[in-house]
Amino acid sequence: MARTRKPVVEVRRSQRRRRTVSAYRDGERVVVLIPDQFSRDEETEWVARMLARLAAREERIRRTDDELLGRARRLISRYLAEYAGAATPASVRWVTNQTGRWGSCTPTDRTIRISHRIQEMPDWVIDYVLLHELAHLVVPSHSARFWDLVGRYPRAERARGYLEGISAATGLVLAED
Ligand SMILES: [Zn+2]
Repeated sequence: MARTRKPVVEVRRSQRRRRTVSAYRDGERVVVLIPDQFSRDEETEWVARMLARLAAREERIRRTDDELLGRARRLISRYLAEYAGAATPASVRWVTNQTGRWGSCTPTDRTIRISHRIQEMPDWVIDYVLLHELAHLVVPSHSARFWDLVGRYPRAERARGYLEGISAATGLVLAED
């Protein structure tokens, strides 16, 4: 689950800094270093920006291939239990060379690849993309039977809408496969 607790932020102004802003975690606190000349508005804006950037970085570190496999196992036992044999992938990993698709699978060798572009998205979106690929190990085509399996995930429709929204906003044509 994503961290929802708001960190304690300590802003340090430095006369030596002109434009650069940096942030790091120090135990429970986040220290944000900003130029002394920044206005209050700039401070507020940059603190929010740096917190978001830090959270994204921490999510990336947390979401490893091992974590992805654990996630796949949980999804299988929850939504595809009777197909556990067929749905269990030989490997599942994050890839950076897949720019046109959120996820892909090769049924013949039962490997699944998930695009790093969704690595910072909410858990329920990653779960949808992963479950979609796991279901393809059971039913390779986008047939009615396939969508029945995917539809077992309660937030499937919402996740598809979320991904379509990202595609529209970024101009990226990322299709499901
Ligand atoms: Zn598909």
